[in-house]
Amino acid sequence: MARFIFITGGVVSSLGKGLASAALGALLQARGFSVRLRKLDPYLNVDPGTMSPFEHGEVFVTDDGAETDLDLGHYERFTGVAARATDSVSSGRIYSTVLEKERRGDYLGKTIQVIPHVTDEIKDFISIGEDEVDFMLCEIGGTVGDIEGLPFFEAIRQFSQDKPLGQCIFMHLTLLPYIASAGELKTKPTQHSVKELRSIGIAPDILLLRSEHPIPEKEREKIAQFCNVRKDAVIAAPDLETIYEAPLAYHREGLDQAVLDAFRISPAPRPELSRWEDVMDRLVNAEGEVRVAIVGKYTRLEDAYKSIAEALTHGGMANRVRVKSEWIDAEIFEREDPAPYLEGFHAILVPGGFGERGTEGKIKAAQFARERKIPYLGICLGMQMAVIEAARNLGGMADAGSEEFDHEAGRKRFTPVVYHLKEWVKGNHTVARKLDDDKGGTMRLGAYTASLTKGSKVAQVYGCTSIEERHRHRYEVDTKFRESLEQHGLCFSGMSPDGRLPEIVEVKDHPWFIGVQFHPELKSKPFAPHPLFADFVRAAKEVERLV
Ligand code: GLN
Repeated sequence: MARFIFITGGVVSSLGKGLASAALGALLQARGFSVRLRKLDPYLNVDPGTMSPFEHGEVFVTDDGAETDLDLGHYERFTGVAARATDSVSSGRIYSTVLEKERRGDYLGKTIQVIPHVTDEIKDFISIGEDEVDFMLCEIGGTVGDIEGLPFFEAIRQFSQDKPLGQCIFMHLTLLPYIASAGELKTKPTQHSVKELRSIGIAPDILLLRSEHPIPEKEREKIAQFCNVRKDAVIAAPDLETIYEAPLAYHREGLDQAVLDAFRISPAPRPELSRWEDVMDRLVNAEGEVRVAIVGKYTRLEDAYKSIAEALTHGGMANRVRVKSEWIDAEIFEREDPAPYLEGFHAILVPGGFGERGTEGKIKAAQFARERKIPYLGICLGMQMAVIEAARNLGGMADAGSEEFDHEAGRKRFTPVVYHLKEWVKGNHTVARKLDDDKGGTMRLGAYTASLTKGSKVAQVYGCTSIEERHRHRYEVDTKFRESLEQHGLCFSGMSPDGRLPEIVEVKDHPWFIGVQFHPELKSKPFAPHPLFADFVRAAKEVERLV
């Protein structure tokens, strides 16, 4: 049975709880243990699928087709363990399950209450697959004291009591603010936060403290005393140059040792940290820099394209080069010539997105990359835009467009080169959708296989002809136009195994122009860069060498 580590946060949000959890997962792996990480989010959305990327950052998609919190991306990038639908839950999901059960009569006439019905549902969620791993790390979203979070805190408190002694520990992440005028780190907010936690019955075993400055011994002692935590379980989480330093930095501060001590695991297995030393070596000792333009819509919030930014960094690590990503608002190209903006970049990436705004600009970016022979990676909407560009400018179909935009506008303006997908095959059954279906959870979601054409650029990049990648889209390139587009040099080099759905296109006679209907960025890891990103950055490096 797994040991459980519950990770909570206090004082302020955005302290990097997800990252700290992910780094701890990596450290436990380095000690030879198997891990799984889970996120419990107190918000009422059933999942983040319907939330704007501006609100909540990227939606991370799992192989089994769940739309989850972006922290699951951190978990995967640090541990390499593929997240599952059962690794992410929200109040919305818990409540809707409880209410469904109530309607079905499952509670046999009982009055339904937060305790025990909601808390039981949360506890059931936490224990899914508990026999599969050595450690289950469960992060509670938000900060202690939030009204919405209470049922989760109550559930983990109960859970730790239900389990045998020593099976669960609590780690609390807070902030030690630095007051410049006093020249001091302040411990009071942490004391209050721990007090709040203890008032609901949770006594933290480990405190992880974010601070801009090293924590003096005196402060550490004070925190240990006031918060009733052992001194060697008061761990500093210093600000880091790069997130990938976290496993090594937290190890230096003694985090993994403190966790093993809390579980009384002795002697502690020695850590094998060479994976993270190599990652850091590649980051720190990179030579040169390539500049990649990311032409998208959600450029105001970096978290909106979190996995893409990370996958580009990984691509740089594969080539021992630094990747400098710059975000450009696609709408600019609807008013202005893209050339002055895009000249000087070594590669162009058009990411996924929804809705028409900015799409004409993305089409211009694709055209610029194709004509100027600059490496281009189009992801999902970025592939659809590349196909529309080719249809318009190579295939002579001036009104080529996507049904998505006509649907949004409520009138017909385009020939739908990209159309709404109404039916597709998943495993051994057919999935059907209508244009006016609910928005949540109704896309083509999760891992699907694609067959690659032998001898194509992508087959060479992947080094095989059958791949599995994660999808999240409603619209699809129409194979009706395949023949004519191929005659004009846009090859359909990856297709669904039944040959009905285009998965990858590439431009012939171009050093590197690839569009993919899926999201390769979701599977890239610092210690295993995704082949498409690794080769895209390699191509960008070639361009850099030529200029
Ligand atoms: N909006 C497009 C679709 O639904 C692309 C989605 C995406 O880029 N993830 O097909």
